[in-house]
Parts: sequence; C-alpha cells; structure tokens
Amino acid sequence: MSKKQTAGRDNLGKLAPKFAELNDDVLFGEVWSREKELSARDRSMITIAALFSAGLYPQLKAHLALGKEHGVTKQEAVEIVTQLAFYCGWPKAWSTFPMIAEIYGEEESVAEGVPSNLSVFPVGQKNDAFAQYFIGQSYLAPLSLEQVPVFNVTFEPGCRNNWHIHHASEGGGQMLICVSGRGWYQEWGKDPLELHPGDVVNIPAGVKHWHGAAADSWLQHLAIEVPGKDAKAEWLEPVDDERYSELK
Ligand code: MN
Repeated sequence: MSKKQTAGRDNLGKLAPKFAELNDDVLFGEVWSREKELSARDRSMITIAALFSAGLYPQLKAHLALGKEHGVTKQEAVEIVTQLAFYCGWPKAWSTFPMIAEIYGEEESVAEGVPSNLSVFPVGQKNDAFAQYFIGQSYLAPLSLEQVPVFNVTFEPGCRNNWHIHHASEGGGQMLICVSGRGWYQEWGKDPLELHPGDVVNIPAGVKHWHGAAADSWLQHLAIEVPGKDAKAEWLEPVDDERYSELK
C-alpha cells in the first residue's frame, strides 16, 4: 500500500464516521499494509476473487482498479475471472470483463506466452524490426524516446542477438541493465559474462559483442543507447548454435 487509503472518510465520513475510520485506519492502515505477510498484489487478487464470488460489483470494480495499482496486469485480471467463472458462475464473468476493459482501456496485454511477472517494465511488442538480427523471439518496449533513449528488451529462452557493434565517432555505445531472468553478454575474444537482475554492462562504442537469454531462462534487460556522434549499429554474423550450446 503505497498511499494512505481515504475512501472510507471520503465517501462515508459524515454518515458513518466510525465505519470510515475502521475502513481507512484498520482495514487498510493495519491489515492491507502488512506487505511482509502478504503482498498488496496478492491481497488484491484474493479480494477480487471474494468480491467476484459474492457478486458485489461496485466494490469489485473499485478493487479491480486498486489491483491495477498494485501490479495486477490486465492479462492476470482476465485470467482470474476466467478461472473463477467455473467456481462462481458464468454470468459473473460476463459482468466483470467490461469492468476490466474499462479500467485497463486499450492497453496492450502482454504478448501471448510471455510470463506476465518478469519485471515492473512493459514487455512491448514483438521485435519484428530487428528480428533478422536475432535467433529466437524477442520483444521491445520503448521506455524513453527523449533525452537518453531507453528500451526494455525481453528475450525468450534461447533467444540472442547476432554479434554486433555500436559504432560512433564520438561518445556512443550501449549500457545494459539486467532486470529479470538469466542470460549472457559476450565481447569478441572474451569469456561470456552471465547476467542476473541488477547487473550493469557498459559497452563502449566499437566493441563487437552479443547479448541474450540463457537456454533455459527468459532474460529481460534495459538497453540504454548512449548518445554519440554518427551513432549506428552494425549487425554481423549470428552466435552459432555450437558456441551458444556450450553456455550453461
Ligand atoms: Mn548491443
């Protein structure tokens, strides 16, 4: 619970001040806030399930919106309702999907088959523009296109990019910040480095390298394009299967 709950006092402070106080200070202030015991996201999911089961739609809608704030994705909300429809009633699902549509809007749901909880960053779209320079499926989400361009890149297990060089006549290069999963970074002529969340890689301009997922794990890293003069990527040969399969 990042912010103090005031829904009780806002809506019922005059009519039912004790109820409002219990809602804001005890239910939310003392129970929902116990995130070490159960995360706000988990609390949202069970509360959504309970309200769905009881058919309490106004509260359900409020809790679907709160769940979104707590990190429940659109895909997860849809999945919760799909499963609960079997336990609680088909028509309840029909009544609930429009609320999810309204709360999440046209937001892209996470691409099919991509774990929805890799990191706090969006997965974005299939990386079709660069697919010819990758083995396997990758996804690209622009996080910033101003000042310093930053992209979130998601690699399915076994996916990696070709050897490539970030050229620049001044400045330039790339930084990688691993945010999820496990993968590899390798410079030409050097041993591969294993990447874990929190690892930072500084790639100077002109250095031939590749990056990608481990064979058995998704990888997600932020790619920061360091501004430079005449910056341009040169794409080279793929990382061959034999060399890649030696990485454990
Ligand atoms: Mn690179």
